[in-house]
Amino acid sequence: MDEFTLINKVKQTTYRQPGLIKGIGDDAAVFREQHEKIVTAVDTFVEGVHFTKNTLQAWHLGYRLLAANISDVAAMGAFPKYYLVSIVFPEDESLFRIHDIYKGMKHLASKYNMDLIGGDTVQGKQLSLSLTIIGTVPIGKARYRHTAKQGDVVFVTGTLGDARAGLDLLLNSKKTEWESPSYKELIRRHRLPTPRVHFAQQLQRLQRVTLNDVSDGIGNELNEIATASKVCIEIDDATIPLSEEINQFPLHQRDEWKYFGGEDFELVGTVAEQDFPFVVQVGKEQNLRITAIGEVTNKVCDLGEVYTIKYGKKERLQPLGYVHRGKKNEKNNKND
Ligand code: ADP
Ligand code: MG
Repeated sequence: MDEFTLINKVKQTTYRQPGLIKGIGDDAAVFREQHEKIVTAVDTFVEGVHFTKNTLQAWHLGYRLLAANISDVAAMGAFPKYYLVSIVFPEDESLFRIHDIYKGMKHLASKYNMDLIGGDTVQGKQLSLSLTIIGTVPIGKARYRHTAKQGDVVFVTGTLGDARAGLDLLLNSKKTEWESPSYKELIRRHRLPTPRVHFAQQLQRLQRVTLNDVSDGIGNELNEIATASKVCIEIDDATIPLSEEINQFPLHQRDEWKYFGGEDFELVGTVAEQDFPFVVQVGKEQNLRITAIGEVTNKVCDLGEVYTIKYGKKERLQPLGYVHRGKKNEKNNKND
């Protein structure tokens, strides 16, 4: 497959963003933004590291790569507009499969009126995709991690651990079972996550809200907020929202995945107590579950720490690896 054929196949025939001046077809893309701030991020997926042919089909891979990036933009309170894709693929890779990856991305992109405005095509040993996203946010409305304050309510959207449970099913069950009702939804959560763009956008009316997307699990995300904001966070284990479907897994797995499963692409955040009802209201309007799981406090611990109250006992929630030792922690220790 040559680069020219690929670019021609994936190139959009029309663009949606009014600010776009030049998309694919020159040395670089050109766009205009008049009043808003630019927000940008990049994410890379490597075959064998972040996915296998079994866990993600080409279409899902494209969808999920873009969803992960859109989620980062959403967590900044921004709206996604453009993306660029750098792809490395082995010589014998089929154009059909690459095209399917792009179809997955384009399906999600169309929901947000996003445009594919460029990329790079390189031959290499392993299929690898890197996606750069560009979005915009009104002045004063970017949602940083360092803005949490004492007394804030800590909240989370949706349910946690489902994507990790879905991955477990993909890795450890038979393909013939994947369509069964109790598996299907969890597998969907892994393959086709929904970034919370509209929810974050509806919070624009708030002067201050701290947001982080759940890409590594709330254990990590909450520690990032606590450290950046120089505050302490205390959460109540019993309030962490779980789906009905995840109940089919043993307690120890649920317990680990809700903190460290990651890749649910939900949003976790903090907001002043008086503003929390508004957050709940926005969730209601979007049919999105909003759960208060704790509070920002400096009464109970040193600054920058996260604690969870479990069965009446207070335990430190470490950034990598829960007290029961998460997978990531084990991996890290092996590398020591
Ligand atoms: P240049 O050699 O000037 O860097 P290329 O020939 O690599 O440009 O690319 C031509 C056009 O196609 C550019 O607009 C580039 O952004 C776009 N492009 C190249 N590869 C991809 C890709 N994999 N996906 C999307 N756009 C691509
Ligand atoms: Mg050039």
